[in-house]
Amino acid sequence: MSAAAHFAEELRADGFTVDERSAATLAAGVEAHRDEHRPAEVLATEANSPSGRRLQARLGVSVRRSTQFLCHPDEFAEWAAGRPGRLRMEDFYRHQRLRFDVLIDAGEPTGGTWNLDAENREPPPRDGRSWPEVPPIELDDIDRRIVASLPDTCVGAPPDGRWPVTRAQALERLDSFVTDGLPVFGPHEDAMLAAEWKLAHSALSSSLNLGLLRPLEVVRAAEEAYRSGRVPLASAEGFIRQVLGWREYIWGLSWLWADGPDGGWWSWNALDAERELPPAFRTGSTHMACVASALDHVEQHAYAHHIERLMVLGTLCLLAGVRPEALVRWMWERFVDGAEWVMLPNVVGMSQYADGGRTATKPYASGGAYIHRMSDSCRGCVYDPKQRTGGRACPFTTLYWDFLARNEEHLRGNHRISTQLGGMRRLADLDQTRERAREVLGLLDAGDL
Ligand SMILES: Cc1cc2nc3c(=O)[nH]c(=O)nc-3n(C[C@H](O)[C@H](O)[C@H](O)COP(=O)(O)OP(=O)(O)OC[C@H]3O[C@@H](n4cnc5c(N)ncnc54)[C@H](O)[C@@H]3O)c2cc1C
Ligand code: SF4
Repeated sequence: MSAAAHFAEELRADGFTVDERSAATLAAGVEAHRDEHRPAEVLATEANSPSGRRLQARLGVSVRRSTQFLCHPDEFAEWAAGRPGRLRMEDFYRHQRLRFDVLIDAGEPTGGTWNLDAENREPPPRDGRSWPEVPPIELDDIDRRIVASLPDTCVGAPPDGRWPVTRAQALERLDSFVTDGLPVFGPHEDAMLAAEWKLAHSALSSSLNLGLLRPLEVVRAAEEAYRSGRVPLASAEGFIRQVLGWREYIWGLSWLWADGPDGGWWSWNALDAERELPPAFRTGSTHMACVASALDHVEQHAYAHHIERLMVLGTLCLLAGVRPEALVRWMWERFVDGAEWVMLPNVVGMSQYADGGRTATKPYASGGAYIHRMSDSCRGCVYDPKQRTGGRACPFTTLYWDFLARNEEHLRGNHRISTQLGGMRRLADLDQTRERAREVLGLLDAGDL
């Protein structure tokens, strides 16, 4: 809301006449604008959702291609049509690198390798180092007016100038990220620390999703930092893969499978997950230290970094069998970068495996061992990541085995998870583990886990 209001102000300053209005519905707003101003044409950027585009068509609004993305849904569909079988992000990413000539030298990937991800999986360093903070932006009158207009039902801490709302602010953030964050982006990308809400992540997603930054300028800034010797190749490549690869791939998938004969993102629920969202997601109160920490980051900053979204909040819901749509709506309401196009493939596909494996080759299910390795949460937790039965058993560890047992039929044909299924079948205490899982789920539903 603040970005929109600032944009209107900037247009006025540039000499445009701005009809800034709020209405009960978008259709009512467009109609009122037409009645009052009788424009020859109403022209808009193509909406980012199928329902938005249908509305634009119904209202007779002319559209132009969005500058928020580099690969138009039609181009993505063309790319996908040429590849029977699984669509791999890595193939799409290489296609994008060549198409936009990014980190390419004489037709080959710079440094001889397309993907340096193997260098980017390190646990958190134990040296107590600090990570680049984002310089706060002072709230102005427009921000204060918007904040004052918000209803009491809004969740989360009040805005504190963490998120850019103008292009100038976003460009400044990009610059400070490239200088301070990008050199250390990469190695600890998957690490989680309770006292660090973002580590070396860029925190640029809201600026990209609001259209304050364009993806190619962000990518070029990272490439230029590498070419001028300011950042290592692994950091530049790792970051460019996120923006040029993942972000565009998710955007393309959101359209490719928006709806169709076999349903679409909103309707998929391959694992028949029907549990309601745990109360902790609303109260923030839980004994699970890793979940409490991720929820606190969301509460304080309207943000959690990728691994907290995927491997803590997402994995807990996957293991517990939470309705995918409930998680989509919760994340969409709470994240500063939330939008339908990005939530659906990331939550329904990547995180909850509710698309039956279209996006991810196997469910992102894991026990407490992964979180123990990648975070500092387990040290201060009442639960023990190594235990799967008993009162101190880590809920992730217990639920992980229960998840495999519960979904054995469904996952049987997936060779990528056969080792885990074999491990589950060999557990001598599987019955006790599943008994504990029933207790854990009861406590989760009661908000007492
Ligand atoms: C369950 C779940 C929910 C998510 N919800 C959102 C969301 O609502 N909005 C959103 O923008 N991203 C979402 N993501 C993707 C990713 O987690 C965020 O883009 C990222 O954490 C934003 O932080 P950052 O800007 O510091 O990212 P960085 O780690 O610095 O990455 C750089 C940029 O790459 C892009 N990017 C990286 N991965 C993805 C991805 N999987 N999908 C789309 N863009 C990606 C983002 O634009 C991001 O700003 C979600 C991922 C998961 C697993
Ligand atoms: S023990 Fe389990 S619940 Fe506690 S922090 Fe570790 S992974 Fe999370």
